[in-house]
Amino acid sequence: MSRKAKRSGEFELIAKYFAPLAKSEPGALGLKDDAACLKPRPGHDLVLTADAIVAGVHFLPGDPPDMVAKKALRVNLSDLAAKGAVPRGYLLTLTLPCDVDEAWVAAFAKGLKADQAIFGITLLGGDTTTTPGVMTANITAVGEVPHGKMLMRRGAQAGDDAWVTGTIGDAVLGLKVLKGDGLDLSKTHRQSLIARYRVPEPRSAIGPRLVGLAHACIDISDGLIADLGHICEVSKVGIEIAVRDVPLSPAVAAAVERGFDIGELLSGGDDYELAFAAPASARRPLLALAAETGVALTRIGRVVKGRSVSALAARGKPIRTARAGYTHF
Ligand SMILES: [Mg+2]
Repeated sequence: MSRKAKRSGEFELIAKYFAPLAKSEPGALGLKDDAACLKPRPGHDLVLTADAIVAGVHFLPGDPPDMVAKKALRVNLSDLAAKGAVPRGYLLTLTLPCDVDEAWVAAFAKGLKADQAIFGITLLGGDTTTTPGVMTANITAVGEVPHGKMLMRRGAQAGDDAWVTGTIGDAVLGLKVLKGDGLDLSKTHRQSLIARYRVPEPRSAIGPRLVGLAHACIDISDGLIADLGHICEVSKVGIEIAVRDVPLSPAVAAAVERGFDIGELLSGGDDYELAFAAPASARRPLLALAAETGVALTRIGRVVKGRSVSALAARGKPIRTARAGYTHF
């Protein structure tokens, strides 16, 4: 039986910790109404996405609350980035087990506040409830994209280049380190991997800039191979990637040197980088964008005729990946 922690009632929690997060959007009505009212800027479409994170599935129950808040928000920001959308607002439904105390809620709200300032997004509404089960943070995020320009999984064409942002495989190794799966790595490397697992870096600065350059885009939440596979499926193309061109952080490169299976890295989830297809004519502006933003953009392969992803090792031989990607159920 879990102990019941001391905390204020639902309305007090909202007034104390969440209403201050909604101040900058008049349409949120101070979280005092049943709904928010939102109008897109002229010439823009609203882009909507929802993602829940669940204790024991997407984060570990002992993870710091501010980091849980950031992860909940950032996985949604990553989906907005993949659609080329600029973040606008979000709704939060938080289910709290009885043994979670008010200090946890305060630290969770503090994490949201910090990220709202970084990403220019504001709370619009939501719900807080007690659960006999595990903690979940369910966020619905709203972004804006110029009318008719939302990036989709659909649209990749044979002849396009396949690109990724940042580095691949950090989060899957971070989870391994947290779970005590002894990887023989330095403390600095272990810490950087854990940080990537706990607090992903959504590519909000890049996504909206891909509008007009990328033909198709997705964020990597199920693993590079699986998510490229989603583009293949909907765009009706194949994608060939060269394993040696997949960008790895120093920590992941060290793990691979020590024999960690690269197939597992390519099929691990949770990187929250963007993978996209763009024509050769976009190479120059994309490299300029990387230089301007300081976010690495790496060409890892090409779009071909076909329906599936192949990961080619050094001599062009396909390598076996551990699984098709991470599925949560
Ligand atoms: Mg996604």
